[in-house]
Amino acid sequence: MIPPPPESCRRQNQWRFILGLLPGAACVLLLVSGHWQAAAALFGLVFVLITAGTIAPRCALFGPLLSSMPGDNQNVCLTIDDGPDPETTPPLLDLLDRHQVKALFFLVGKRAQRHPDLVREIARRGHTIGNHSQTHPAAIFWALHPQRMWQEIAGCQQTLATILGSAPVWFRPPVGHHNLFITPPLRALGLTMLIWNCRGFDAVERDVSLILRRIEKTLRPGAVILLHDLTPACAEVLSGTLDLIRQRGYTTGLLMPPVIRDQA
Ligand SMILES: [Zn+2]
Repeated sequence: MIPPPPESCRRQNQWRFILGLLPGAACVLLLVSGHWQAAAALFGLVFVLITAGTIAPRCALFGPLLSSMPGDNQNVCLTIDDGPDPETTPPLLDLLDRHQVKALFFLVGKRAQRHPDLVREIARRGHTIGNHSQTHPAAIFWALHPQRMWQEIAGCQQTLATILGSAPVWFRPPVGHHNLFITPPLRALGLTMLIWNCRGFDAVERDVSLILRRIEKTLRPGAVILLHDLTPACAEVLSGTLDLIRQRGYTTGLLMPPVIRDQA
């Protein structure tokens, strides 16, 4: 049973809903007063802003997020989304052990429920576990209403806390989408949203050499690398990425999140 959202979360969502209506109301006012060109210009601007805020992973229109490691040292952060899976996750863990690299696994709550021992094994090997929503509703995450948004984020938080004994502090939205109602649950649960600034599109691309060339192009100090579990070539992609990190002489690690939590 997922606990209901706290009052602070509900209040913030109400304000955000009202704020979200304001541009539409302004457009209607401009239209009825005969300023149709200004109404069209405002509508276009708002449409572009909201579209960017929704589908551009690193756009912080709807709330704070991190997409790179701070400082100018040689550190990068390796993140692996969408697990756990009994077929594909263990080979990834073995590869990481062999390279003595620790990663941040963004797990899906319902998969974690099916494989709790594997979740504990990821943690036992020294990796960090983050919240990647309870059911990973990739196609509709951008359109979730406040109640469903809470269920997705708080549900995964509860699942992982039950398995591990402590709740994650990192959150990554499915496919990097956001909406107006994503920040209040994160603040209520003490979660920081971590996006990425280095990826090879390994979830959709099958050509491993092309994936690795794309990663190589954007791999630099401070990179947050996005990889995926569960793809046919995930072990091969991870192996190539670990080689790239070693060749460049980068270290791997995690930044500590600046926890912004609502007062209870
Ligand atoms: Zn995902």
